[in-house]
Formats: sequence, structure tokens, C-alpha cells
Amino acid sequence: MEVVDIFARAKINLSLDVIGRRPNGYHDVRMIMQSIDLHDDISLYRSKGSGNIIIEEASGSVPLNKDNLIYKAAAVMMDKYHIKDDLRVVLKKNIPVAAGMAGGSTDAAAIFKALNIMYELNLTVEELCSMGVKVGADVPYCIMGGTALSEGIGEILTPIIAMPYCDILIAKPDISVSTAYVYNEFDKLEEKKHPDVSAMSNAIKEQDIRKISKLLGNSLEGVTIQKYPIIEEIKENMLGKGAIGALMSGSGPTVFGLFDSMNKAVIAADHIRGLGIAKDIILTKPYNAQ
Ligand code: ATP
Repeated sequence: MEVVDIFARAKINLSLDVIGRRPNGYHDVRMIMQSIDLHDDISLYRSKGSGNIIIEEASGSVPLNKDNLIYKAAAVMMDKYHIKDDLRVVLKKNIPVAAGMAGGSTDAAAIFKALNIMYELNLTVEELCSMGVKVGADVPYCIMGGTALSEGIGEILTPIIAMPYCDILIAKPDISVSTAYVYNEFDKLEEKKHPDVSAMSNAIKEQDIRKISKLLGNSLEGVTIQKYPIIEEIKENMLGKGAIGALMSGSGPTVFGLFDSMNKAVIAADHIRGLGIAKDIILTKPYNAQ
């Protein structure tokens, strides 16, 4: 195939527990990941050449050089499968950057999948994931997608049944959060919060959206809110406008709210927009491929 078009979906963490720090600086986590419908659009083109990777993106919000995770993913595959063509990647970035929604990891995951299709490599999800983890801890999950328990540094994945349907409001304040900073500050805490990840997994299996909303929890949330109280303000406003639960995703600063009606989610979105406390406000829903 000369061209492959693919969606790269964002994720939220319904539960995120940081269990410990390894000597190499990586953290052991237990997380419940959920893909959402919000996605970047990626088109991959190949042409005869000498193995160049060209990335095009119009907004200027991400690096277009070797620092882009798309580049890293393509380089891993090209090296391993001796791909000598030139590759051109046209990226339309819809997922807010440095937001805690795995925007870079999901773009990388999409490139692994797209190259698998383009060159008819017939690689399994497991084979793609073992290459993906070299690019980033969240890449294997993004390759798999859906609803999953993620353990280890993120590479041990157990799929679980899809979360029940709900409307999801995403709101990201106009700040950038360094993941390294958040984990460093978390390591220094004497009292660390640990959400009940197993209970969340059970609530999903029971398809109980109210229980899911009650159990939302993120070990890192307190650290990021301490530095950026606007995150708490967004949460409170979502809950005040009818969210059945709200939480910061990943290391932040994005907040997501779960709603049992689209109408309430739209009202909450308008309210938050009116307050001017979020730069990106997006209505979406869970995504589980069938
Ligand atoms: P995570 O939830 O995995 O912690 P994130 O959503 O917080 O990820 P990203 O959007 O992946 O963060 O961006 C983190 C950094 O990665 C940014 O500073 C950005 O410059 C860099 N980056 C590299 N490639 C990409 C990409 N394709 N899309 C977005 N960011 C990228």
C-alpha cells in the first residue's frame, strides 16, 4: 500500500496508582486506561528513497524532528525491517499536547500499526507492543487501546471489558506540566495516595457508572494541583454542573468529567468556557473498537 490513513486515539486514566520507583528512575504503576474518541489524524505515505522520515504538522505544537515520537517509532520499524523507502507523515494534532492524554505515545502507536499494514508485515499486537515499549512506556497500551489494566512500567497489559457508555468532557487549562516534575515531587511525598485500582476494575466489570465515578483516583493529582490549583477549580466546576465524577488524567493538567447526559456535559462545557479557566474544551466519549 502506498498510503495508510489512521486515527491515533487519546486515553484517560480512570485509576492511576504509582506503586514505586525503580533504581533506573522508571516508576511501577497500576492504571486503568480507557481510550476515548478524541484522536489525531495521521496519513503515512511511502516513496522510493533512502530511508528519510519527514513529518508535517501545521499547528507547530510538536517537534517535527527526531524528538517526535512518530520519528522514533518509524526509525525502530525501518531499522528492524530494513525499510529503505522515504516516509512522509502528515499529522493533524487534535489531542492537546503535554496534557496527560498520551498524545505522543498514541501517534507512535499509530505509526507501528500503519507500517505493519503498509508493508504487510503481519506482526501481532504482542510483537508491535514489544517494539513500542522501546519508544515509550504508554505505547504498548496505545497499540492495544480500549479498556485495560496497565502494570509494570506500563507494558504489562490486561484487557478488561469496555467501560459503560457515558459522555466525557475534557478540559485542559492553559499550562504545560512536566511529567518528570510531577513524578519527582510525588517521590518526595511522605504520605502518598493510592486509589483502589482493583475496585475500579470490578466496577467496570459490573458496568456501574456511578461506582466508577466514585472510585476515580490518581496518585499524581495532589502533586499537580498543589502547583496548579486551577485544576481543582476545573474539577469543582465540572462536578457543580452535573458531572458524576471528575479527575485529572495522567500527570495532568487535563481534567475529564463523566456525565450521564450529553446535555449536562454541554452545559458544563459552556460554563467552563465562560469562566475562561480552560484552553481546550472537548466533548467526547469512550472508544472501544469491536
Ligand atoms: P502522557 O499522557 O503519555 O504522559 P502527555 O499527553 O502528557 O503524555 P504528550 O502530548 O505526549 O504528553 O507530549 C509530551 C511531549 O512529547 C511534548 O513536550 C512534545 O513536545 C513531545 N512530543 C513528541 N512527539 C509528539 C507527538 N507526536 N505528539 C505530541 N507530543 C509529542
